[in-house]
Amino acid sequence: MKVVYTPAHLLHDPHSEIHTSGTHSPFEHIGRAETIKETLAADGSFSFTAPTEWGTEPIAAVHDPGLLRFLGTAWAEYQLYMPATREVVPDVFFRNPLRNKMSELGEPESINGRLGWWCFETTTPLTEGTYTAARGAVDTALTTTQIVLDGDRWAYGLCRPPGHHAATSLYGGYCFFNNAAIAAHHVASTTGTKVTVLDVDYHHGNGTQEIFYDRDDVQYVSLHGDPARAYPFTIGYADETGTGRGLGSNLNLPLPERTDDDGFVAALERACAAIAAFGPSTLVVSLGLDTFITDPICDLAVTTAGFERCGALVAQLGLPTVVLQEGGYDVDHLGENVRRWLVGLRGSAG
Ligand SMILES: [Zn+2]
Repeated sequence: MKVVYTPAHLLHDPHSEIHTSGTHSPFEHIGRAETIKETLAADGSFSFTAPTEWGTEPIAAVHDPGLLRFLGTAWAEYQLYMPATREVVPDVFFRNPLRNKMSELGEPESINGRLGWWCFETTTPLTEGTYTAARGAVDTALTTTQIVLDGDRWAYGLCRPPGHHAATSLYGGYCFFNNAAIAAHHVASTTGTKVTVLDVDYHHGNGTQEIFYDRDDVQYVSLHGDPARAYPFTIGYADETGTGRGLGSNLNLPLPERTDDDGFVAALERACAAIAAFGPSTLVVSLGLDTFITDPICDLAVTTAGFERCGALVAQLGLPTVVLQEGGYDVDHLGENVRRWLVGLRGSAG
């Protein structure tokens, strides 16, 4: 199986995040991708390749071009406002009720106002190299996708930063550009065929859902901690099924606390039945391993053996499959959990 990796992710190196009312060392850090890379390299049966450059067009096809422009310049602009700030985080968020009964507001002028316009929460600092790293993650996703479009049965993109919380016009949740959505749109728009994004990260992929919510050519199916208790709290409920032409193309399967291997696999079987009924040409998997039993910020109980079962179940769909890295924060086990999921997917096919 081919693995796409770029060291560009090392340029996104936050030293802190604002989480649960305090400043902490970040859960999303460079060690995550490095341990995955090292574990897959040590296995010996994965072949590594570097991404090619895709430019900004595929990003602007999914995201608001204003978000793209903002992320390209925001860190440097903030240095004019607050010099020598290593990590840039908004402290004022734009919310519609602020301007009740008033005219609609366009993008504010000041960098501080613009931060709160394009970002929706506080755990996602911009650093000097964030934009370059985020572009590298998109290039990784698209190169992985092209490998599958060119005939490989499956391929894995070691995307970092992750992507599934990034919406059309918002970044947050450790995500800047939605790698999986950009990949899925690339397949749908270049082949004219249907695509499914299967999201198995602990957290609901609010960005991916929002991007495709009114489309009937891209299905979004997600297993995740119930947003009644889990981030992102405001989206990911079972009654969100799509709108307009997209009605019926969105399936959320919220899961209870401590869901174990059997419970997770049972939900994944439901997901796979819905995918088979939709009939996509290609599957894009948002692979988060934060459903793991000892993940520090999540509350499910999937084991390493469970991840291999999940990969094997997805393989039974018989679809060309693009696997893209999302979350997973138990760094001691993350590499092995990814490896076993991929081993489950490819079976004995190599
Ligand atoms: Zn997650």
